[in-house]
Amino acid sequence: MRISGTTRLAGIMGWPVAHSRSPVLHGFWLDETGVDGAYLPLPVRPQNIEQALRALPILGFRGCNLTIPHKQAALSVVDRVDSLARRIGAVNTIVIGPDGTLEGRNTDAFGFRESLRDAVPAWKATAGPAAILGAGGAARAVVAALADAGVAEIRMVNRTLARVEAIAGDLATPNTRITIHSWEQVGAALRHAGLLVNATSLGMAGEPALTLDLAPLPPSTPVVDIVYVPLETDLLAAARRRGHPVVDGLGMLLHQGRPGFEAWFGTSVKVTRELRAAILATLAPAR
Ligand code: NAP
Repeated sequence: MRISGTTRLAGIMGWPVAHSRSPVLHGFWLDETGVDGAYLPLPVRPQNIEQALRALPILGFRGCNLTIPHKQAALSVVDRVDSLARRIGAVNTIVIGPDGTLEGRNTDAFGFRESLRDAVPAWKATAGPAAILGAGGAARAVVAALADAGVAEIRMVNRTLARVEAIAGDLATPNTRITIHSWEQVGAALRHAGLLVNATSLGMAGEPALTLDLAPLPPSTPVVDIVYVPLETDLLAAARRRGHPVVDGLGMLLHQGRPGFEAWFGTSVKVTRELRAAILATLAPAR
C-alpha cells in the first residue's frame, strides 16, 4: 500500500483497538482492489469518542468502524442513525456524507445474514422457530437479521432475563414474536427449531464452556456459533458429530466489513477463501 495526496481514509475506533482484525480485513481488500485508500487503527479513550468522531470530517476521513466500548455511545453523537442501527441499539459503522455529517449504521445483522446465506443457502426463514442463545449486543443484531428475514418465532435463551425482555420490546414485530426462556428451558427452546445460534460468549477462548444437549434439536437444523476464537467451538464440533449443517463465526465477521468498505472506498468486495485464510492466520490458536 502506498499513501498519496489523494488517499481515502477510514479506520476503526476502539479502546483498546490493537486486537481488532479490521485493519487486516480492510487492508486485504485495499490490496486486492488497488483502491487508493488506507484503513487505520484509531485508539480512542471512551471520554474522547465525541471529539474523535467530530474530528473525522475535519481530517478528511470517509468514515470509520467502531468497536468496544464505543458502539452505544456513538448513537447520541452522530447526526443520523439508520433505522436498523436504532433498532439494534448500536452503531458499528460511520459514513461521512459530502456535507460532513456523520451517519451511524449497524452492519452486524447484514454480516450474520450473508454468512448464513453463504454457508447454508438452503436455509429458509420458514424452516421453523429460531433458537438464539444470548442477549448481548451480538444477539440483538442476529435477532434483527432473523426478524427482517421473516422468521415468525424467535426463542431467546439467556441468563439475565431482563436483557431478553428488552430485546423483545425493541425487536419483536407484528410478524415476529420473541419468546423468553431461561437456561433450564433450553431443551424446550430447541425442540422443532429450524435454526440454532450461539450468540453468547460461552465457548470463546478464555470464557466458560457452553455445555448443551443437542438431542431435542431436529438433525437437519443448522447450528451457528458466532464465536470465532476458536473457529471450531465445542458446540460446532458436537453439532457436526450429530450431522447438523454448521456455520462458524468468521463469515459474519468478514461480511460485516463489506458495507463500510463499499461506502468509504466506492468499490464492492467479496468474502473469499483467500480472505478467510488471511484472517484465520491472525486469530489466536484454539485452546
Ligand atoms: P455481550 O454483549 O457481552 O453479551 C454476552 C452474552 O453472553 C450475554 O448474553 C451473556 O449473558 C452471555 N454470557 C456471558 N457469560 C455467561 C455465563 N457465564 N453464563 C451464561 N451466559 C453468559 O457480548 P457480545 O458483544 O454480544 O458478543 C458475544 C459473542 O459474540 C462474543 O464471543 C463475541 O466475540 C462474538 N461476536 C462475534 C461476531 C462475529 O462477527 N462473528 C460479532 C459480534 C460478537 P447475560 O446477559 O446473562 O450476561
